[in-house]
Amino acid sequence: MKNDLRRQLPSINQLIEYPLLQGLNREDHNLVVNCARGVVNKWRQKIGNGQTDLPLISELAQEVKDKYLSTKCTNLRRVINATGTILHTNLGRAVLSKKATEAIIKVSKHYSNLEYDLLKGKRGNRYDHVTGLLQELTGCEAALVVNNNAAAVLLALSALAVGRETVISRGQLVEIGGSFRVPEVMAQSGTRLVEVGTTNKTYPRDYEAAINPETALILKVHPSNYRIQGFTQEVSTKELVEVGSRWGIPVMEDLGSGFLIDLNEYGISGEPTVQDEIKQGLDVVTFSGDKLLGGPQAGIIVGRRDLIKEMERHPLNRALRIDKMTLAALEATLQIYRNPSRAIEEIPTLKALITKKEVLYQKAKNLKELANDKLETRAKISLIEINSKVGGGALPLTLLPSWGIAIKPISMGVDELLEKLRKTNPPVLSRIREENLVIDVRTLLPGEDIELIKALVQALGE
Ligand SMILES: *Cc1c(COP(=O)(O)O)cnc(C)c1O
Repeated sequence: MKNDLRRQLPSINQLIEYPLLQGLNREDHNLVVNCARGVVNKWRQKIGNGQTDLPLISELAQEVKDKYLSTKCTNLRRVINATGTILHTNLGRAVLSKKATEAIIKVSKHYSNLEYDLLKGKRGNRYDHVTGLLQELTGCEAALVVNNNAAAVLLALSALAVGRETVISRGQLVEIGGSFRVPEVMAQSGTRLVEVGTTNKTYPRDYEAAINPETALILKVHPSNYRIQGFTQEVSTKELVEVGSRWGIPVMEDLGSGFLIDLNEYGISGEPTVQDEIKQGLDVVTFSGDKLLGGPQAGIIVGRRDLIKEMERHPLNRALRIDKMTLAALEATLQIYRNPSRAIEEIPTLKALITKKEVLYQKAKNLKELANDKLETRAKISLIEINSKVGGGALPLTLLPSWGIAIKPISMGVDELLEKLRKTNPPVLSRIREENLVIDVRTLLPGEDIELIKALVQALGE
């Protein structure tokens, strides 16, 4: 019985000659044959396990085609972010500016002066490509960049406080996500954690009471994705710096995100800029390259020259070293910041943050018209007011008023549509709200509206 069923499956030759596969077969015969074998074998096994419903040859051919296409494209792929979360950690955080991506291509397609001083004709320092810019933009004395901000914190603690004590407020012993937990990073670095104050309230006197000859560092950690509200008290940067200088102990801040321009006039408030923090007299500040800065993944360390030197010389620095493509993208990104009004136009993260609601309304309206044109019979489409989020553990309480389209499919469930959209090319990531699929236009990049409509047409079927 099972053998009879197996015999009803088409031969590999029949399958690859099926019209749907003929074009692909001419393009890459070997791969199509491989995929067809895989599909037929899978069905033979299914029959072996008791399956009695056999697929039509057209269905098998479609399976082969899907398998072929997914084998052909890389596993790490671009996707369309229709979630409205600007710095979506699962979707690669910051989208780079055109200049940053061009810089990556240039430096990776050719040789470069990565560690060569062209003026002196001898060995140079890779960090020199960005230290000047960081000094200019943040007012710091010296700077160093590593692989990410977690690495920056680990390196700083290892270089400045190993075997000695680091004082931190209890309210700042946070977990940032992606397994960055402040107490664990501190333990890993070899410094001894001394927690002061309580979860909700910490005063300058709490820090002073903890200081002793073993104290190497006072650490402040930006709570990022977490806020304590109500009966609370944290020690300000200014007060911490006063405590530090009274006792001759360096004060470091893990700033997390790290804005380089003040976006208050655009309604984005509550985040200090790096230069503000430096101005208050902090000895070391660390922040991410791919959060609010809108650059590549990197950990940026700015601060006192002698302390930065110690970090640069530390053996961990070699292990956490930033690569040339990242460095190229970071330099290009920082260069744009020299002109803040250009920065908010050219750096996609900043642009997405400050785009006005009226502009988003127009974008959503256009998208709705396009969608109506193509999808009228298969879904009900309406304009919807929504809130976008910053993401990446930055500004967790900030809701950015936005517009989008809500799609209610007529002949399938909304969950099914969500799933089908994840499988289009490029995949589309969206969310569900009240039985509707919601497309937030804030995070759609130029040109993606057309691709999005195509994906919707494909997902909703003919
Ligand atoms: C995000 C964040 C980190 C981790 O930064 P990565 O660049 O993701 O390694 C560390 N500390 C704070 C406060 C953060 O917000």
